[in-house]
This record gives sequence, structure tokens and C-alpha cells, in this order.
Amino acid sequence: MPDKGLLIVFSGPSGTGKDTVLDVLLRETDTVKKSVSATTRAPREGERDGVDYHFISRDQFLSLIERGEMLEYAEYVGNFYGTPLGPVREWTEKGIDVILKIEVQGGAIVREKCPDSIGIFILPPSVEELERRLRGRGTDDEAAVQKRLATAVEEMKCADAYDYTVVNDNVERAVQEIRTILAEEKAKRG
Ligand code: 5GP
Repeated sequence: MPDKGLLIVFSGPSGTGKDTVLDVLLRETDTVKKSVSATTRAPREGERDGVDYHFISRDQFLSLIERGEMLEYAEYVGNFYGTPLGPVREWTEKGIDVILKIEVQGGAIVREKCPDSIGIFILPPSVEELERRLRGRGTDDEAAVQKRLATAVEEMKCADAYDYTVVNDNVERAVQEIRTILAEEKAKRG
């Protein structure tokens, strides 16, 4: 039996660059995978079904919850987001580390259900920089930017509940910090 993979809860407000950090981290390893969440939100331009998210209807989402197939789920800015349980179970049993890129309410559920999980919270260098990044993305209208910014400021208050906080001032540096965290956690459990 291989050692079980780590379950990593990876949170941070949108606009912190956590997607880029994750992309770089995942590109360089085949022993870490990202769980593909289900969501009722509409795809943004360039997003692919089954890769970025499983884009499903509200009814489909509710039926996954009813069948007990969600490890966790939460409502965020008017849409449902959730982690399908099957792949997480399958991969961690094979010794693959699984990253859940989820918001804080879902993060708290996972931490409670899976006390062995590791919480990593990504912070922007500052709130001003976060606002600049949210606007610069150009995918959301002004009302959505304001809503996301307010949510982000609230979310940042939850950083203390995580085992580690990583400031994304530089992508390569942040990725290196996360690699070190994962190596140390593995050594602890080894
Ligand atoms: P976005 O709409 O920007 O892709 O995601 C909005 C928020 O939902 C982000 O904080 C993202 O990490 C979070 N999220 C994505 N998938 C899940 C999930 O499966 N569960 C929970 N609880 N949050 C998620």
C-alpha cells in the first residue's frame, strides 16, 4: 500500500493569483493533482468543462448533494461550488496529493471532516493590489468586482484558521514556499 496522499485545502480571495500559483505548482509535478470542482456558475471565456470546473445546473448540483457525492459545498456570490468526493478518495488512496482550491466556508468543512488535511491560505501583497488585479482581469462588471472585493476582505479574516499563509508577492517564490511546506508535511508523516 502506498502512503496516503496529502489533502490540501488551498484558499484565498479571487484576485490573489492563486490560480497562477497552482498552475505553476501542478505543471512541475505528477504527484500532486487539483480536484475539479462542480459549480452552477456560468463558464468564463476560455474555461473548459471538466478541466476548470464541471459546469452543472442547480438541479444536478442538488442531486449530487442528496446522493452524498460532495465532500463539501458552499454558496459563493450567488452560485454553488462543491468538491466531488470520488476523485479525492481515489487519488489520495493512490498516494497522490490532492489540492482543493476552495473558498473558506468549504475549507472549514473539509478541515472538520478531514482533520489530517493541510490548510494553506494565499494572501495578496495588499488590498490595493488585490483591487487592481480584480479589475485588471476584466471578466466581471463593476458590481461583481465590488462584491468580490467585499467578499475577499471578509475572507482574509479567516486566514488565521489555516495552518500556513503564503503571500503571493512573486509567483515563483510563492510556489517554492508551498513546495517546502508539502515536503515538510510529508516528512512529518513519513
Ligand atoms: P471563481 O468563480 O472565481 O472560479 O471561484 C469563486 C470561489 O469559489 C473561489 O474562492 C474558489 O476557490 C471557490 N471554489 C471553487 N471550487 C470550489 C468548491 O468546490 N468548493 C468551495 N467551497 N469553493 C470553491
